[in-house]
Amino acid sequence: MPSVPMQVILKDAFEKRYGVGAFNIVNDLTMDAVLAAAVETRSPVIVQVSLKTVKQMGARLLALMFEEMARRVQVPAALHLDHCPDRQVIQDCVEAGWSSVLFDASKLTFEDNLAQTKEVVALAHRHGVAVEGELEAIKGVEDGIGSENGGAVVALDKALQFVRETGIDSFAPAIGTAHGVYKGTPKINFERVSEIVEAEPVPLVIHGGTGLSDEVFHELIRRGAVKTNISTQLKITMADSFRAYLNERPKEYDPLKLLNAVKKDVQAMAAGYMRVFGSAGRAS
Ligand SMILES: [Zn+2]
Repeated sequence: MPSVPMQVILKDAFEKRYGVGAFNIVNDLTMDAVLAAAVETRSPVIVQVSLKTVKQMGARLLALMFEEMARRVQVPAALHLDHCPDRQVIQDCVEAGWSSVLFDASKLTFEDNLAQTKEVVALAHRHGVAVEGELEAIKGVEDGIGSENGGAVVALDKALQFVRETGIDSFAPAIGTAHGVYKGTPKINFERVSEIVEAEPVPLVIHGGTGLSDEVFHELIRRGAVKTNISTQLKITMADSFRAYLNERPKEYDPLKLLNAVKKDVQAMAAGYMRVFGSAGRAS
């Protein structure tokens, strides 16, 4: 089916309290695998792309590829730009017909972030594109963006002011999760999710989903953090799959067989998360 607006996908998930996986794809194979997982589990899904991948492939090629692949499947799917501090790339994606963008102005002061996010929302909404907002840096470096030190956590009233005044469609607060691989057990601030959602019913976003337990996901989703980002695990699954396939078959030279095997592994990984998030069976 044609791509479904992010606002529609997140509204249903937020109302019914299930999570929608947002998987950072890196090429056509992984986009295809994530969509195949959504078909397999009858899930709505978010195909998410890092700025680094957009710079490599181009906003328009990704949009065209997504439109064609999404058209072939009967599940709601949206195309989302992950952490992007670059206003020009935001504009390129908006004009190329993406569903949603994360304007990452977490390095700016509160006032500058608020002002610039308002401008991005105005531009995006004119094109029917949703905006995810971010106020505090998420801990950890992902595809060259971010820092090992998470930013300071903003007071609740400031966070709510940011959500209300910018008009963002989803919000990614710092809740103790981190990008990359967790070294210990993360300390999750569940209470902050509830405080924000109870004061302002906006779908929240879980960054750093890789490595969280099923129980943590369930609790965060129940409280309203319904967009669940998975990036690191896709990279691990993909690389491990290539390595295992080639190591087991040192004399085989059939690229399509290799790529299909990797697709199968990435699909299984994504389908597993969709079942954990509770999105399985929600595609109507
Ligand atoms: Zn992130």
